[in-house]
Amino acid sequence: MSQLKVNLIKCLSDNYSYIIFNPNSKKAIIVDPAEAKPLVDVVNKLNLNLEYILITHHHEDHVGGNIELKNKFNCKIIGYADDANRIPGIDITIKDKEIFNFEDDEIQLNFSPGHTSGHIFYYFKKSKLAFVGDVVFSLGCGRIFEGNSNDMYKSVMKIKSLPNEVKIFCGHEYTESNLKFCLAYDENNDHLKQRATEVKDLRNKGLPTIPTTVLDEKNTNIFFRCNDKAISQKLGLEGQPPEKVFKKLRELKDNF
Ligand SMILES: [Zn+2]
Repeated sequence: MSQLKVNLIKCLSDNYSYIIFNPNSKKAIIVDPAEAKPLVDVVNKLNLNLEYILITHHHEDHVGGNIELKNKFNCKIIGYADDANRIPGIDITIKDKEIFNFEDDEIQLNFSPGHTSGHIFYYFKKSKLAFVGDVVFSLGCGRIFEGNSNDMYKSVMKIKSLPNEVKIFCGHEYTESNLKFCLAYDENNDHLKQRATEVKDLRNKGLPTIPTTVLDEKNTNIFFRCNDKAISQKLGLEGQPPEKVFKKLRELKDNF
């Protein structure tokens, strides 16, 4: 069992950055520093030794803190080899499926295009944590900016195929608006009704709805449920392949 802990840090308006650390050794990783200040504060407060920054994709609200953090803590920035020229300050480039070690864990990089052409997610194999950037959100998935619906579908399915107990950490707090969309097209899903109560309760208290888990998303996230008969029926796509249902859902969500 891994000893790593995860701190969720609110950044900008609705971004989440993450600090993963071993409380004994104090060695730490940051995933997607949206901005430097709140992260610097936590690293200092917990007296952490920041070794690496992991980047899921090049968007400004995921790399905005790179240079300041690197200058301050002399850490190394890690990202996807094929997107290296868009990631500020990158030091170490990694390829799809490549694994690197941190403390007692093994972190696997997974190519997951669709939101951007060079998007990746990081899977901590022993701790069973996935940092997925803007591919999957709780009850939703990312917008398609570079690539097509099939790319995005495959990327979402890669996350769906992780073990049920894996915790999913995404880049934004979009759960409430995603919930409204899921309820509109999957209104008879009892898991979803239950999740709706939990989400409203958390948000009323001003708390994050993250992390979620692979199992919870399988039960409630409509983009994970393209094989569900009631959903394809509702869309008039009964008997159609799940890729088509996914494409339709993404289009509907874009205009929801
Ligand atoms: Zn993005």
